[in-house]
Amino acid sequence: MVKKILNYSETETNKILPIRYQWARDYFLMGVANNWVPEEIPMQEDIELWKKQDGLSEDERRVIIWNLGFFSTAESLTANNIVLSIYRHVGNPECRQYLLRQAYEEAIHTETFIYCCDSLNLDPDYIYNMYINIPSIREKDEFVVEITKSIMDPGFTVKTLTDIQKFVNDLVGYYVIMEGIFFYAGFAMMLNFLRHNKMVGIGEMFQYILRDETIHLAFGSDLINTIVAENPEIWTSDFTHSIIEKVKRGVELEHNYAKDSLPHGVLGLNEGMIREYLEYIADRRLERINLPRIYNSRNPFPWLSEIMDLRKEKNFFERRVTEYRTRGQLKWE
Ligand code: MN
Ligand code: FE
Repeated sequence: MVKKILNYSETETNKILPIRYQWARDYFLMGVANNWVPEEIPMQEDIELWKKQDGLSEDERRVIIWNLGFFSTAESLTANNIVLSIYRHVGNPECRQYLLRQAYEEAIHTETFIYCCDSLNLDPDYIYNMYINIPSIREKDEFVVEITKSIMDPGFTVKTLTDIQKFVNDLVGYYVIMEGIFFYAGFAMMLNFLRHNKMVGIGEMFQYILRDETIHLAFGSDLINTIVAENPEIWTSDFTHSIIEKVKRGVELEHNYAKDSLPHGVLGLNEGMIREYLEYIADRRLERINLPRIYNSRNPFPWLSEIMDLRKEKNFFERRVTEYRTRGQLKWE
């Protein structure tokens, strides 16, 4: 029986060999090679800077708190989506192998924010309720929860054309919008701190998270593309139009979040530049799933794409990233 990506029987789903979707296996191996844990990254310099009266401006503190607030709950939201719904409907064993790896990485990311909050002695009730109390964060989370509602229904299956469209719609919500757009204003803001040698421990953790997320996004895009290739009838112009509209909405919400976290600009970064960056990456995300670009904006942060496109280990920030290779090799895929 030739393997396909969806609709497995309970026994077929355990036959990982022979591999049909080599990309899923490759992402699994890349994930394993990128292994890291937050506790190995020292936080001493961050703690000293954070405690120092005039160490950081109010605007700088706001950026850090907003990003900790968003990421602290977003990582487990993603983990829950993978485990409770994507895993259930994607029966292909090599994809499931990767989903297990991704779920573990999301747990490491959740752990990272526990470690950050503990190190800086932040009030967990404040940080972990920002997804409710801060409208610009709440709107992003609500958008993702809303877009993924149908497949959370325990009776949901992926048998009919409409079901598969719903499922792909939700995969776009998880991978393209949540991991591919909603994380990226934060990455730009936090890696800009690292670039200016501030909050270097947290910055380094964001570097590792970005490296992991790059693979999550690549897997999600290949998963979407494979489902579409095997079910080409779902890819109607109405359906692709609705996906493009959701990506546009995602850019708006992420821009609102950037305006709220960064009302006055910090360390040479402002919300206008982040808007341009979001448009630039939204085009890349659309092209990755074979849809046309819509913004044609240029990349205002070549330094950031340099980090992401690095193929070989390179001591970009002259920190300890390159020596941090106990079990993994450093590759920005
Ligand atoms: Mn993550
Ligand atoms: Fe992720």
